[in-house]
Formats: sequence, structure tokens, C-alpha cells
Amino acid sequence: MDEASSQGRLLAVRSAVAGAARLAKRAPETVTLIAVSKTHPAEAIMPLLEAGHVDFGENRVQEAAAKWPDLKERFPGVRLHLIGQLQSNKAQDAVDLFDVIHSLDRSSLVTALVSAARRSGRSPDCFIQVDFVNEAKKGGCTPQELPGLLADARAGGLPVIGLMCIPPAQLEPAPWFALLAELARRHELPSLSMGMSSNVETAVMIGSTHVRVGTALFGERAFVPG
Ligand SMILES: *Cc1c(COP(=O)(O)O)cnc(C)c1O
Repeated sequence: MDEASSQGRLLAVRSAVAGAARLAKRAPETVTLIAVSKTHPAEAIMPLLEAGHVDFGENRVQEAAAKWPDLKERFPGVRLHLIGQLQSNKAQDAVDLFDVIHSLDRSSLVTALVSAARRSGRSPDCFIQVDFVNEAKKGGCTPQELPGLLADARAGGLPVIGLMCIPPAQLEPAPWFALLAELARRHELPSLSMGMSSNVETAVMIGSTHVRVGTALFGERAFVPG
């Protein structure tokens, strides 16, 4: 995609987010637009960096570690979000590279992140990912596991700022977004990571503070196995 069109898409998505926020009587600045750049090379990301965009999302630690250290050096204001499942043996790399982790979903990962944070002296903000329908392959804890996991994370000193979900494909997303918002309220968590290209406006109207948008900004991704 050429530079003009990806910057045009950025403006279009920003204005969709702002429009939905205003409809919901929210200030547009309360929503962080995360540009999900997974599978896309640095050349595709550059136009957004040059347009001043700061929040970017990746779903694999290894891919991000290959792409982002150079880009971060050139654009030091960048905030990098890990939105994919995290294996405990990659916790240190994740803590070193990412500013926000959206996929905290089990106690063993809390333990790994706490010691990684201690070693590196930096502590990314965390979202706990909730899986309402037991789609284990996407990650996430069950709503029943949430209170215990949150207690573990807080006891370990991890800054948990909110909840994240990926609603089941093919179903109406709004009910899942509303459930996540209710869970966050109950646990006094201020942030909600929900909404993707196909449902960003719905998510913002239900209270999302962090939307994760790939396709609408970068175009279709090539299929990546695994
Ligand atoms: C890829 C991905 C997105 C972005 O999805 P699009 O439909 O391309 O906007 C959002 N969240 C997660 C967790 C993802 O893996």
C-alpha cells in the first residue's frame, strides 16, 4: 500500500473512533487506537510513524523483536502493545520490548512476568484477557478464574489496568463487549481492550479504551501458518 493511502486510512479510522466516542458522549481522546502491524514489514509501518502515530500492536514476540528495535530507535515515542498469546519462556523478551501486554491469562505467566520485570527494572501495563466461550486457542482466562488471577497479579506488583477480549467470530460482538465492561467495573479496572476492524465503533460505544485495528489500516494480511 502506498504512503498516501495508508495515511488516508489512518485518518478514516481515527474519525470513525472519534465519531463513535462522541455518540457515546465520550471524549475521543479516551480511546487509544492501536495500529496492529503484525505480518506487515517496516516499510508498511513507516507512513504511520511519519504521520505521528504512536501506538502499535504485534501478536508475536519474535516478529516484533525483529522489526521494532530499529523503528523504536528512530521514533522513540512509540508505545508497543503485545496483543497475542505469550509463552512464559518469552516473558523476558516481552517485558524488554513491549510497553503494554494485553494477554495476561494465567498465574504461571504472572510469575514469569514478575521476575522478568524485576530483572529488567521495567514493568509493562497489563490487561487480563478473558475468554467467555472457552476458545482456548486464542488464550484468555475464564470469568471464574479472573478474580484469583487478578489477586495474583496485584500481589506480584504487576500494574493491571484493564481487561481484554476477542469475541467469538461470526457472533454479534456487542454482548461480549458489554460483559467485559461489566466485569471491569466490578473489579474497578479502568481500561478495556476490545474492538477490531470489523467492530471498532460498537466497541467504542460500549466503553472500549483501547481498540486494536489491523486490516482497516494496513489492508488484508497474507495468510501466516500457525
Ligand atoms: C490481528 C488482531 C487484531 C486486529 O484484527 P483486524 O481484524 O485486522 O483489525 C486485533 N486483536 C488481536 C488480538 C489480533 O490478533
